Amino acid sequence: MIPAAFDYLAPATVDEALDALAAAGDDVKVLGGGQSLLPILRMRLNAPDQIVDLGRIEELRGIRDEGDHLVIGAMTTYADVIASPLVRQHAALLAQAVEEVADPQIRHRGTIGGALVHADPAGDVGAPVLALDCELVIRGPKHERTLVRGPRRDRTVPVGEFFVDLFETAVGEGELLTAIRVPKHTGWASHYEKFVRVSHQWSIVAVAVALKVDGGTIREARVGLTNMGSTPLRAHGVEQALVGRTASDLGDACDGAADGTNPPSDLNGDADYRRHLARVLTRRAVATALGG
Ligand SMILES: Cc1cc2nc3c(=O)[nH]c(=O)nc-3n(C[C@H](O)[C@H](O)[C@H](O)COP(=O)(O)OP(=O)(O)OC[C@H]3O[C@@H](n4cnc5c(N)ncnc54)[C@H](O)[C@@H]3O)c2cc1C
Repeated sequence: MIPAAFDYLAPATVDEALDALAAAGDDVKVLGGGQSLLPILRMRLNAPDQIVDLGRIEELRGIRDEGDHLVIGAMTTYADVIASPLVRQHAALLAQAVEEVADPQIRHRGTIGGALVHADPAGDVGAPVLALDCELVIRGPKHERTLVRGPRRDRTVPVGEFFVDLFETAVGEGELLTAIRVPKHTGWASHYEKFVRVSHQWSIVAVAVALKVDGGTIREARVGLTNMGSTPLRAHGVEQALVGRTASDLGDACDGAADGTNPPSDLNGDADYRRHLARVLTRRAVATALGG
């Protein structure tokens, strides 16, 4: 289907985009890579009066090293994340997960910021961003120039507060996600284990694991779960249980992976099946990260 008619703006800066959002009022949508929004418009599930396309805003693209963390612009494509030597070296888990998103065409257009704001719990970016303890940088009218008599200021939200509910994040109306701050996890063992029935499918369940390992023993563990609730989740119980374990002594450390989750039931599997998958995939992800 062809989308309903809309006005189209492609500003060149973040501030111009925020001005456009403020002027447009309620019936406006931001366009990132379009890989979720365009299907929604074509199915006429949404018919905004105006589209503000972020595609010309150079300051929203790219990956830079800022000492103890990387900063990834919200409009950086999946393909650029995968190709980045900085991400490979300091946040390998993110590259591993993004490689599992859809197919090359979608990875060429889709952006890491669009995926995070879209906040589909089956999306592959949320769990690694949780496991890497990232921060999300948001800019919007709450920091209006006229109020603070200066340039708009960013607010930074820890990832634990970013995902609010199904398709809902801390990015409010009239705001933009501008960047993702990724603490460096140089030398950490990691793996993203995605379970699908056919290739290029959304995750039925997936698990993101980052492990700080010393002499074969896990000293610190972070585990993120994809599609085990209305938002990406951390498996805190497993993280604690993994500390002190080795590859040959994982024991029952991964058995609590589904504790406290509320997975969906759909044609790909019911909630109990997903709980089973979470336990199996977590163990598999940990073993693979440890070189097993
Ligand atoms: C066939 C198909 C298969 C797919 N398979 C997978 C998969 O296996 N795994 C997976 O993770 N994803 C999958 N996706 C989704 C894909 O990853 C999308 O690219 C992603 O969800 C959205 O990113 P985008 O840049 O295209 O955002 P858009 O589609 O442009 O936008 C998505 C939403 O975010 C908002 N938005 C975008 N950028 C910003 C910003 N900077 N600030 C504020 N709001 C913003 C938009 O207004 C919109 O509401 C699939 C998509 C398709 C079409």
